[in-house]
Amino acid sequence: MKILVAGGAGFIGSHLVDRLLAQDHHVDVIDNFVTGQKINLKHLADNENFELFSGDICNLESLPREKYDRIYNLASPASPIDFKKISIEILLTGSQGHLNLLQLAENCGARILFASTSEVYGDPLVNPQPETYYGNVNCRGERACYDEAKRFGEALTVNFQKYRGVNSRTVRIFNTYGPRMRPNDGRVIPNFFMQALVGQGLTIYGNGQQTRSLCYVSDMARGIETLMESDVDQPVNIGNTHEMTILEIADLINDLTGNNTPHIFQDLPENDPKVRQPDISRAKNLLGWRPQVDVREGLKETMEFFKTCL
Ligand code: NAD
Ligand code: UDP
Repeated sequence: MKILVAGGAGFIGSHLVDRLLAQDHHVDVIDNFVTGQKINLKHLADNENFELFSGDICNLESLPREKYDRIYNLASPASPIDFKKISIEILLTGSQGHLNLLQLAENCGARILFASTSEVYGDPLVNPQPETYYGNVNCRGERACYDEAKRFGEALTVNFQKYRGVNSRTVRIFNTYGPRMRPNDGRVIPNFFMQALVGQGLTIYGNGQQTRSLCYVSDMARGIETLMESDVDQPVNIGNTHEMTILEIADLINDLTGNNTPHIFQDLPENDPKVRQPDISRAKNLLGWRPQVDVREGLKETMEFFKTCL
């Protein structure tokens, strides 16, 4: 098949590209490198089935003029530190950018997958979160640029499906980690490893009792592709159900790295979700997908990657 991956130079996108190329598909990537890195795709430079287009999905002119069978839209900054710096760009990427890709899908007759997020549930009042939960989102808060862009992107996707006949898939991605995360990305796993590997205290926001459930990137890429190739057009949560407090994650990373410097407690950012765990019944029942990588094993692999970033 001929496949376009928007945001393919990013962390999850580049792993998905590797997975698709390993199955002999032809894969084009479009990326504006706002948070992605060319180095994530460097190993593909000589691959005849791969082409990299530098461009912004918000700009129609920069989209490749090709006919695709599948379009994966993973383009969007995803780290809370970007929410302050490039909030307008994030809003436009989830709205205008996704609209452009939906129109491309309509023109080509391609199936399109939208990378949504657990953030559509906001600071959830229900735990674990099933796809039927409408969420608890502050549309004016620090995280609104991201949460609302994704909610709008989902609405756009549903309406293109209903009224314009575009075949769509929507994945709600929960916290994912692994090699190729940017070391200065600001998210919890890069921060903790980059601190622990040089013997610094880990920065814990708030009291560290908030929870996250960490999914290894190979499980995520497999889940995303499985959803794309399924006949499921409802949103599907993909993530690991092993819920841990941030303090537990910090202690595990200190254990793996041999760091014993005391933690540094800092203010909790506004609207930081207190709990997060995916209900993955739908992924299990409809896709036959479940995570396979244990968090300790996944973090060990990730540690080896961050060592090369020092
Ligand atoms: P990432 O920042 O590593 O990747 C995003 C990629 O999109 C980058 O390469 C970036 O340069 C590119 N991009 C951003 N705006 C663009 C634009 N306008 N035009 C072209 N390219 C653009 O982030 P990631 O962690 O790999 O996330 C990938 C997708 O998964 C995102 O849509 C994100 O919202 C979603 N997601 C990720 C997580 C996670 O835990 N990593 C959780 C939930 C949702
Ligand atoms: N966090 C932290 N220290 C850090 C970075 C993040 O305690 O150095 C916390 C953050 O407040 C949040 C959780 O870790 O509760 C996950 O943050 P991340 O930015 O990775 O993603 P989020 O799930 O909030 O989008």
